Amino acid sequence: MTASEAVPFAKTGGLADVATALSRALAKDGHEIVLVLPHYPQMLPQGARHRLQIETVEESFAVPVGTRKSYGSFLKAKLPDSNIDVILVDQPDYFDRPSPYVYENIPYEDNCERFVFFSRAVIEALKKFGPFDVLHANDWQTGLVPALIDIETRKQNPEFKDLGTVFTIHNLAFQGRFWHWDMVLTGLDWKYFNWKQMEFFGDLNLLKTGIVFADMVTTVSPTYAREIQTPELGWGLDPALSGRGSNLVGILNGVDTSVWHPETDRFIKVNYNVDSVGVNKPICKADLQEAVGLPVKPDVPIVAMISRISEQKGFDLLEQADSRLLENDAQFVFLGTGDRQYERFVKELGKRYPDRVASLIRFDEELAHKIEAGSDIFLMPSAFEPCGLNQMYSMLYGTIPLVHSVGGLADSVVPVNRETMHEKTATGFSFDRYHVNDLLACFNEALAMYRNRSDWKQLQQTCMAQDLSWNNSARNYLKVYERAIAKHC
Ligand code: ADP
Repeated sequence: MTASEAVPFAKTGGLADVATALSRALAKDGHEIVLVLPHYPQMLPQGARHRLQIETVEESFAVPVGTRKSYGSFLKAKLPDSNIDVILVDQPDYFDRPSPYVYENIPYEDNCERFVFFSRAVIEALKKFGPFDVLHANDWQTGLVPALIDIETRKQNPEFKDLGTVFTIHNLAFQGRFWHWDMVLTGLDWKYFNWKQMEFFGDLNLLKTGIVFADMVTTVSPTYAREIQTPELGWGLDPALSGRGSNLVGILNGVDTSVWHPETDRFIKVNYNVDSVGVNKPICKADLQEAVGLPVKPDVPIVAMISRISEQKGFDLLEQADSRLLENDAQFVFLGTGDRQYERFVKELGKRYPDRVASLIRFDEELAHKIEAGSDIFLMPSAFEPCGLNQMYSMLYGTIPLVHSVGGLADSVVPVNRETMHEKTATGFSFDRYHVNDLLACFNEALAMYRNRSDWKQLQQTCMAQDLSWNNSARNYLKVYERAIAKHC
């Protein structure tokens, strides 16, 4: 398994949760997993070096990056509470930086070079720590790996001739698109720089490279797998994606319940489960209100968001709604970082309504847990959403999601209506048309139901009783791995 981030080594978004949780679920099922990541020393939590048993492995390696050789070395670590080996690719010039891809919201200029280097290092890791049956790469940062395996590694190393490759798209909006001369960095022949393989409107595209060269391609929900094959949500890659036919599969992410479960969560005031939610969740709510500086009012619903602050996540709708969000009695908690324009909007809302809106512009894992436990409604009005994790965390914490019905949000939230309430299958509120009026109507519907204690309790019980663990998803990934391997038998 290779990715550019994984909890607890580095995290900027859902990919980090998924890389770790899927590895854990597969290992629990008896499979041997090795996780290969870049080593970002500045992103390691305090004390992690010892806890994660990070140690140097003797050998260093050299790989071609364009016309030069770049040197790196491997560190070994352990994924906590598992027997999973983690190989950290150490190259301080590339990875000893404050964050993985951007500085002050601007991508590093050498991102292509950094992740070409990392992809070639992954091949070195395969040779050194293998043999392996399957290489599972994730997102553009590792999109070159399936191409290197297909074009070079399988041919040059007989022990890799049966190696299957799987490539997972966590968000099609991030494509690793670079100017055409960066093709030289990959070390691959220019003949691959054509519109059917690595080229995309004159540029090099590493996400497309992964999509084209991997034996199997997956994305993180069945609905998103369909959506990205359409011009509306395909970001120009819809032809490449539909070209993969049945080799493109959507698998809904699960939840790492060892990290996200109210019964065992170590960050929340009191733990609770489906039986004690009624008594203990209000304690968590008061704790959250205190922690974020809002008046402690048990009967006022808390509406929360934990998110990258970007247009994808629906902040344009929220900005349009503005004070209309506050027409009803509710408190808001926003935790996130991202686009300056929307950060400003969120901050200003907090300043205008200090008793009702808490705006926290930072990344704060601990507070994220407190918010899940202490809130009543979780807002995810995303314009598009490959899977989304927070709506699933929310459901397990008895916090009812309100979502725009797209991608993984459509696959994971059963909308409230007369029928689903009657059948006791409803798990949240959703609106279909991406429009501020539809968001507000849905919001008002949610607030109205909040006042009906028995309906609300029913929603909480249905949400919390679901099995959202990785077990199912991991089994589906195994099927995909088997299909990838079968292509070389
Ligand atoms: P994406 O990967 O598109 O950003 P996801 O919903 O799939 O969105 O995953 C986001 C993950 O990042 C969740 O685990 C969420 O809790 C976490 N997260 C996002 N922003 C913050 C923040 N400011 N503080 C803490 N956790 C955050």
